[in-house]
Amino acid sequence: MTDFDCKHSPRPELGRRSFITCTAVAAGVAATGGFADARSKSPKDNAAAPTQPAADTAVPIQALEEKRKFMEEAAALAKESVEKGWGGPFGAVIVKDGKVIGRGQNRVLLTGCPVYHAEITAIMDASQRLNPKALLGSDYGAGTILEMIPREPGSPDLVPERAKMLKGCEIYINGAPCPMCMSAIYWSRISHVYFAASLEDTSHIGFDDAFQYADFKKPWDQRSIAVTPNFERDVGLTAYRAWEDKKDRHPY
Ligand SMILES: [Zn+2]
Repeated sequence: MTDFDCKHSPRPELGRRSFITCTAVAAGVAATGGFADARSKSPKDNAAAPTQPAADTAVPIQALEEKRKFMEEAAALAKESVEKGWGGPFGAVIVKDGKVIGRGQNRVLLTGCPVYHAEITAIMDASQRLNPKALLGSDYGAGTILEMIPREPGSPDLVPERAKMLKGCEIYINGAPCPMCMSAIYWSRISHVYFAASLEDTSHIGFDDAFQYADFKKPWDQRSIAVTPNFERDVGLTAYRAWEDKKDRHPY
C-alpha cells in the first residue's frame, strides 16, 4: 500500500461522474476528472515540476529505480480498484520527461462501462492535461489545437505529418494491455510501453486478453463474434470521401 494509494485515491463519486466520460469516448470527447486530485497533490509531481534547476531537468534520466516507482504507482491504482470493488486489478500511469502526466485505473464495475480500462483513462487523463483548452469549446472555433509533427524517416505511414498526440511519452501498466488498450496506445502515439504481468498471468486470473489477441489473427469469418464485412461499402465510403475532399483536414 503506497502513500498515493491511501491518501490521493480518486473518489468514487468522481468515478461515477466519469461514466459520462466513457460514453463520450466514441464521440471523441476526452473528459476526465477522477484523477485530478491525485495529480495536484502528488509529491512526485512536485519533485519533478519544471521549476527545478536546469541542471536537474534539462536531460531527465529515468533510472531503473524511478521506473520501478512508476510501475508501483500503476499497481497501487490497480489494487485500489480491487479493494474498493471498482474494477479489475489494472492500473496505468503515463510519464513525460520523467513526470507523471496521466493516471488510470480499471473502473468497469463502478461505471458499468466495459471499456473503462486503466490505459484508456490514463490516455484521456494525459491528453486533457497536455491540451487543457481542448474541451473549452468555441474559443478555438471548429479547428484543432493539436500540434503536427512530420513522418519519421523510413516510416511506412502514407501521411507526411500527423498530430503529435502522446509521442515521447511512456506508459507503465501493471498487466499486459488488452488489444483495445494496445490499439489505444498506438493511436495515442505513445513511444514506450512498460508492462509487468504477462498476458498469461492475466489469463490465469480470469481475463480474456490472450484469447482476444488470438482471435484478432483469424480471418473475419472465423472470429468468435459474427462479422459481416464490407456491408453496404458504398454507404460507408461517402464519409471517407468527405474526409478526402476536406482541404484543411488535420491528419491524426
Ligand atoms: Zn484494456
